[in-house]
Amino acid sequence: MTTNSNKTLASNKTSTLDKTTTHILGYPRVGSQRELKFAQEKYWRGEIEQNELKEVGSLLRHRHWGDQVGAGLDYVSVGDFAWYDHVLSTSMLLGHIPKRHNNGFPDLDTLFRVARGKAPTGCACAASDMTKWFNTNYHYIVPEFSADDQFNISWLQLFEEVAEAKKSGHEVKPVLLGPISYLWLGKEKDAGFDRLSLLPRLLTAYQQILGKLAGLGVEWVQIDEPVLTLELPKEWAESFKLAYQVLNGSTKLLLTTYFDNITHHLEKIVSLKVDGLHIDLSASPEQLSDVVAALPQDWVLSAGVINGRNVWRADLAQLLTTLQPVKEQLGSRLWLASSCSLLHSPIDLDLETEIKPEVRQWLSFAKQKCREVTLLAQALDGSELALQECLHYSAPIKARATSKLVNNAEVRQRTLAITPALAERKAPYAERARQQRAALNLPLLPTTTIGSFPQTNEIRAQRRDFKAGRLTEAEYNTALQGHIADAIERQQKLDLDVLVHGEAERNDMVEYFAELLEGFAVTRFGWVQSYGSRCVKPAVIVSDIYRAKPMTVDWTSYAQSLTKKLVKGMLTGPVTILGWTFPREDLTREEVANQIALALRDEVTDLQSAGIKVIQIDEPAIREGLPLKASQWQAYLKWAVNAFKISAASADPQTQIHTHMCYSEFNDIIESVAALDADVITIETSRSDMELLKAFEEFDYPNEIGPGVYDIHSPNIPDVEHITQLVEKAETLIPTERLWINPDCGLKTRNWEETEAALRSLVAAAKALREQW
Ligand code: GLN
Ligand code: ZN
Repeated sequence: MTTNSNKTLASNKTSTLDKTTTHILGYPRVGSQRELKFAQEKYWRGEIEQNELKEVGSLLRHRHWGDQVGAGLDYVSVGDFAWYDHVLSTSMLLGHIPKRHNNGFPDLDTLFRVARGKAPTGCACAASDMTKWFNTNYHYIVPEFSADDQFNISWLQLFEEVAEAKKSGHEVKPVLLGPISYLWLGKEKDAGFDRLSLLPRLLTAYQQILGKLAGLGVEWVQIDEPVLTLELPKEWAESFKLAYQVLNGSTKLLLTTYFDNITHHLEKIVSLKVDGLHIDLSASPEQLSDVVAALPQDWVLSAGVINGRNVWRADLAQLLTTLQPVKEQLGSRLWLASSCSLLHSPIDLDLETEIKPEVRQWLSFAKQKCREVTLLAQALDGSELALQECLHYSAPIKARATSKLVNNAEVRQRTLAITPALAERKAPYAERARQQRAALNLPLLPTTTIGSFPQTNEIRAQRRDFKAGRLTEAEYNTALQGHIADAIERQQKLDLDVLVHGEAERNDMVEYFAELLEGFAVTRFGWVQSYGSRCVKPAVIVSDIYRAKPMTVDWTSYAQSLTKKLVKGMLTGPVTILGWTFPREDLTREEVANQIALALRDEVTDLQSAGIKVIQIDEPAIREGLPLKASQWQAYLKWAVNAFKISAASADPQTQIHTHMCYSEFNDIIESVAALDADVITIETSRSDMELLKAFEEFDYPNEIGPGVYDIHSPNIPDVEHITQLVEKAETLIPTERLWINPDCGLKTRNWEETEAALRSLVAAAKALREQW
């Protein structure tokens, strides 16, 4: 922290009046040991009382405020803590919950019922939908809007937490999801009504919220309007004017944007009645000069320079150079911040004792990022000591650029040598289909599954024992072979056509490959909230990626050796591996995807040489990688599709390549899905009653499709009639000769009893349908 003596040492002339204000947009809420997750789940199971859960929440909030104050930030963020999701908290705050959940005054169990369909008390009722938060892997609960919706402040969490933080002596900056973003992120429940028409009513409630915050002595409110980074329809872009006219008055408003630039709306933004603007300079550094030039005289600019979405140590020396002229121009009107909420980054690097020291010094998690913000501000304010510390701190990340550990000449050469031809299969689809029919000898409406079979407690325990050294590698491998043999036997009994080995060796479809490929680091506690109590632990792409040895060939060949039926090899695709890891920032996403694609390509070659005739390359993350601005979609899809194709194209014409894309809106990306040129694609369709297939029908999708007929997210077992109906519906859209019959997705979250019962129906339905031909 800056002391007075540092100030006097300072060479630069910034006076204390010009001090840079520091804050972050939000802190991760789960706790460094996932305390919130474990408490939530215990509460849901009825193992603890509500007050015990609330105590855990309070403990975490105090700890997180402590982290922020300890790092020297000027404000602590309040309102970033959520029992499930901050969009749902906003709905609760506004008293805006789905009618089916609206009985009596909303409490914490109401919140859980909206999120999960059930809670320890009260009736069970359908949960609200959940969807991805912009282009992150965080999911929010989608607000449901009807024409007669009312908004009345009815959930006091925000105000209570402001008071709680104030009581601890903190300078508080509440975080509030802005009204336009709140409306945008929801969906209409009634047909023929436009949710934007609710804005006036909604604004009255927001006015009350801001008035209450002012009453609590709040000076600044961070009002998040991330939708400003999108290319909004005209009415939406124009609604900001009215909204901020109405909201102006009670407290100062920091209009907060993140995940991309806002220059396309800049003219509108600077005419709004707010007191400051936050921009994401990590996602879009190039917007800085335009924004500074247009910034109204009396606004502050919160420069989001410390990346809230990635794990890399900031190059503070570099940032100082960029920000110095801005500081000179804006003086105390310059604030420094994280680019977005730190919700998207793991919490504490200090816990990672197993990462190689050379790699560790390149990283920074939420707790460390808070300190980056303040250190940078102190240096900018003229502290010589802080300046020296910045230079020292950035030295490793600068040195990384030329580190031998990072750069692998062979990998670079191989990606540079990629030609368009490398992405093309050796024969066009029609020819491949002919050869595959001859080679594979599959019946009409072939049956298969998506890859994983139940991850039983036994499997999990064995993996834990192996990692803890209680099982030797040989013992662990023998155990896994046992699970594979078991899966094959069950599938043979079920009489499925294309079998899988079951993925017992995989904890996670991305982490498994990240651990085997060179170029990744995996963390122990690097958890990031995905939704509710669910967290993911993305690996970090540290250096150039290559495959040192085959990754799946042994397991797949072992499975194939046990049966005369076809066994399908199972890989995770390049776009999904990239999308579900923390990426490098010194290479483009395209370059990294190509490196992964080449590694997978070699795996495809080896599987094929080992006699595997069907190979699935999963790509559920293609759609979610789409840029926020629709005008940039095509450029992304081009390289994403190409990376997939590079990984698949070493397959001979008679080798059948499958891909699997889970649930996805296919309408606006169908052309790219077709361009993947997979011989077979499987997708989730059972819950949408085959609706998703329409996009394929309209596009005249040429290759084979397996629309899911078993909703694996539900414990319900589909009966033969239900599956038959779904297939018959599919047959009205896609010719029977090109249809497969399979579940929606992998079965790892189900148990064997459910799995076998459902697959029995599935095979029976397929057989009966074949009879009709
Ligand atoms: N092969 C994977 C599995 O079955 C696919 C999972 C997914 O698409 N998310 O588990
Ligand atoms: Zn899936």
